[in-house]
Amino acid sequence: MARYTESSCKKCRRYGSKLFLKGDRCLGEKCAFQKRPNIPGQHGPTSRRGKLTDYGSHLIEKQKARFHYGIMESQFSRYYGEASRQRKIPTGDRLLQLLELRLDNVIYRLGLASSRPFARQMVLHRKVKVNNRYVNIPSFRVKPSDIITFKEDFLSNVYVKSSLERGESIPTWLSLNITDKKAEVLSLPSKEEIKTPFNEQFIVEFYSK
Ligand code: SF4
Repeated sequence: MARYTESSCKKCRRYGSKLFLKGDRCLGEKCAFQKRPNIPGQHGPTSRRGKLTDYGSHLIEKQKARFHYGIMESQFSRYYGEASRQRKIPTGDRLLQLLELRLDNVIYRLGLASSRPFARQMVLHRKVKVNNRYVNIPSFRVKPSDIITFKEDFLSNVYVKSSLERGESIPTWLSLNITDKKAEVLSLPSKEEIKTPFNEQFIVEFYSK
């Protein structure tokens, strides 16, 4: 399976925005983007971020979204294609919804993982069940009324415990019951509830060209 091997922090520095790819490190003083916000590379410290064309700024927002959710180019353009084919809500809002409904993102939003890459790993390792069936596909799309349960050793994992201790607030479209080791998808996420470091409207502009 294809995957990116470049340092996660370089992506934040290249695109000029914190993409939150390394869990707790992103929130502390060790964040590379906070320490060195310049472009990575030999000439990075002396080069300035030049004025961008419309195309350039749209491309950057699309790349930020891809790396934020950990998605390859072809899959991301399929999400866009699906979002643009429906007429009920604006394409950008539907695109955000499709990205949020990925199972790895749901585990992250439930506060059970400090980053999406860790949530993805937990799904790949078959630690999560949806409607009583093991699912090891990070892109699996959940829907309202789906019940998510966890393998016995999942909630006792030291990293999961420390994520829970942080007490991140859970979005209103999800619910988590730690005692019953169960979570539920209550509704589709609304745009107001989805906080992202990119502008989805620029992504629509990028693909509309
Ligand atoms: Fe690295 Fe996270 Fe900071 Fe990005 S936000 S530079 S991934 S520590």
